[in-house]
Amino acid sequence: MKILILGVNGFIGNALAARILRDTDWEVFGMDIREDKLDLCQGNTRFHFVEGDISINREWIEYHVKKCDVVMPLVAIATPATYVREPLRVFNLDFEENLNIVRLCVKYGKRLLFPSTSEVYGMCTDKEFNEDESNLVLGPIRMQRWIYSASKQLLDRVIWAYGFQKNLKFTLFRPFNWIGPKLDELTSDPEKEGSSRVVTQFISSLFLGEPIRLVDGGLQRRCFTYIDDGIDCLIKIIENKDGRLNGEIFNIGNPNNEATIKDLAYKLKALFVEHSSAKNLNRSSEIIEVYSKEFYGEGYQDINFRVPSVKKAKDLIGWEPKVDLDTALKKTLAYYFDSNPKPEC
Ligand code: UDP
Repeated sequence: MKILILGVNGFIGNALAARILRDTDWEVFGMDIREDKLDLCQGNTRFHFVEGDISINREWIEYHVKKCDVVMPLVAIATPATYVREPLRVFNLDFEENLNIVRLCVKYGKRLLFPSTSEVYGMCTDKEFNEDESNLVLGPIRMQRWIYSASKQLLDRVIWAYGFQKNLKFTLFRPFNWIGPKLDELTSDPEKEGSSRVVTQFISSLFLGEPIRLVDGGLQRRCFTYIDDGIDCLIKIIENKDGRLNGEIFNIGNPNNEATIKDLAYKLKALFVEHSSAKNLNRSSEIIEVYSKEFYGEGYQDINFRVPSVKKAKDLIGWEPKVDLDTALKKTLAYYFDSNPKPEC
């Protein structure tokens, strides 16, 4: 099988490509604007990488959509600070550029595996979000945070419609706060405050000895999912035994790993202090509270909780997440200690 992964250097892309090359005989064709996370892939004869941009290298992409069996467009901005500060960039990349790829899959009859997002459920009040039944609940237009969710939701609907009217074969997957090695780069740039996802934001603060900031008190909850669990599920989705996963949507998350952002901060701080290399750094971060308006800006609105139902993944794919939160955080932190031992991150 030949898999095209656009955004192969991203957090999901690089881990998926590495696993495919390790555990299967499939070939991976990958494009990205960077290649710094591809150390486990480069040099493998079944890995074909080209440095490129999905908005520029259109001929290469069309040729490879034609050539491959499965297409995974993973290029997207997925950090809330950018939804608020640059909503048009989010719309352009996450919606418009990806729509072009969807249309190429329709044109060449290729199977599309598309990353939807847990954000599409928005402020849904269901205890567990169900792929086929839960309502998708977004805030007012002036709250620009929702541009990402709305862009992804519309693409989900467009893909669904292409399946319905043009027989596009697709599977949508919705990651719930995946964490692990190579998640985001650590940053110390105050201009970029909040520009990483929460786990890497907190790890950056710990390495720099700067305060960990809990937005609006940190009582909002998330279910954190270890990358290896997510990749296990994606491999089975790519395999698609008997074509049973076509036209389906899957949450990929760990409902057992729910924590408040405040708990997350204290857990990470404790794990950081316990780590054997922490003594050399001599850093100490206090945990403080900040208002979301100051941290993100006016257009931010939070999601208080989001728990996935993973029943469908269990029933249809035979998949369940295995890695508990403490292990997931420990492994994530260990990666940053190993790759980023200097305090000037
Ligand atoms: N958050 C926080 N401090 C930070 C970064 C994020 O309290 O330094 C909060 C944020 O307001 C949200 C949660 O952590 O409620 C998760 O944020 P993330 O950026 O990981 O994305 P989300 O889960 O909202 O998509």
